[in-house]
Amino acid sequence: PNDLVFVTLGCMTEGSSLGSMKTPAVLNSKESGGAWSLWENMAKNRPEFGHPAVFANHIEQTKWQSFTVTLNDSAFFQFIEDFTGNEAGTGGLFTLVDSNWFMSIVLAHQPHFINQPENIFVFWGYGLFPDKMGNFVNKPMSDCTGEEILIELFQHLKLGDKTQPIIDSAICIPCLMPFITSQFMPRVKGDRPEVVPAGAKNFAFIGQFCEIPDDVVFTVEYSIRSALIAVCQLLNLKREIPPVFKGQHDVAVLFNALKTMHR
Ligand SMILES: Cc1cc2nc3c(=O)[nH]c(=O)nc-3n(C[C@H](O)[C@H](O)[C@H](O)COP(=O)(O)OP(=O)(O)OC[C@H]3O[C@@H](n4cnc5c(N)ncnc54)[C@H](O)[C@@H]3O)c2cc1C
Repeated sequence: PNDLVFVTLGCMTEGSSLGSMKTPAVLNSKESGGAWSLWENMAKNRPEFGHPAVFANHIEQTKWQSFTVTLNDSAFFQFIEDFTGNEAGTGGLFTLVDSNWFMSIVLAHQPHFINQPENIFVFWGYGLFPDKMGNFVNKPMSDCTGEEILIELFQHLKLGDKTQPIIDSAICIPCLMPFITSQFMPRVKGDRPEVVPAGAKNFAFIGQFCEIPDDVVFTVEYSIRSALIAVCQLLNLKREIPPVFKGQHDVAVLFNALKTMHR
C-alpha cells in the first residue's frame, strides 16, 4: 500500500529502427513498442491524464533521420578541420543549409568512446526532411542506405576524389526515429497531464510529456525536473526545485540571438 509509481509517458525514440551500409532503416509505427499504448490505456476516459494522440498520431510531422559513421582513418576529420578551421569537438553543429534533407553533422572530440582505437574516428549527423529527394542521390533520405547517405553528404562537402576511399572503409548506420520531435507538436492546455494530477496520492507522470510551465522539452533537464517534482511532491519533501532558466529575460542571450538572426 505504500508503493509509489512513477510513469514515464511516451518516448521520443519509440519505434526507432536501424539500417546498414546496404539497407535503409524502416519506418515503424507506434504499435512497435509499448510507450504510447501504456499512456493511451491510462488516458482512456480520463481527460486529466492528457491526450497522447496529439503527440503520437502524426509520424509524418514528428519523424526525422539520424546516422552514425565509423571511419578507419583521419582523412575525413582532417578535411573538415582544414575546411572549417575548427578542431573536432570545438565547432558545434555543422549544417548544410543548401541540403534538401537539411543535413547537419557533428564531429565530437576523438576518441569519443572509452577504449576507441586510435585509428578509428566516429561522427554523427541527421536530416530534418527525410522525405525530400537528395540533391545528388535521386531518392528520399528515408529510402537511402548508409552508403547513399554518405555519397550525398560528401557531394555536398565537395570531397572529390577522397570520397570513394573513405566510403570503401566506412560504416554508416541510418536511424529512423518516428517520434523524435513529437514533444514539439502543437498542443493546448490539458494535452499534457500535470506531473502529479489532482488527487493522485501514489503515482506521478515523468518525462517529456508531462506539464512543466516554462520549461523546454527535448532536454534531459526537463525529464530530470519532472522526476524531482514528482518525488518531492509525493514524498512531501521540502526541497527546492531548481528554477527554470529564463533565457528570454537574459540580456546577453537576447543580444546573441539578435546577432545570430542578422548573421
Ligand atoms: C539523437 C538525440 C539527441 C539528443 N540530444 C540531446 C541533447 O543534446 N541535450 C539534451 O538535453 N537532450 C538530448 N536528447 C533528448 C534526451 O535524450 C531525452 O530528453 C531524454 O533521454 C528523455 O529521458 P526520459 O527518461 O524522459 O525518457 P527516455 O530516455 O525516452 O526513457 C524512457 C524509457 O522507457 C522505456 N519504456 C517506454 N515505455 C515502456 C513500457 N511500456 N514498459 C517498459 N519500458 C518502457 C523506453 O524504452 C525508454 O528506455 C537527445 C535525444 C536524441 C534521440
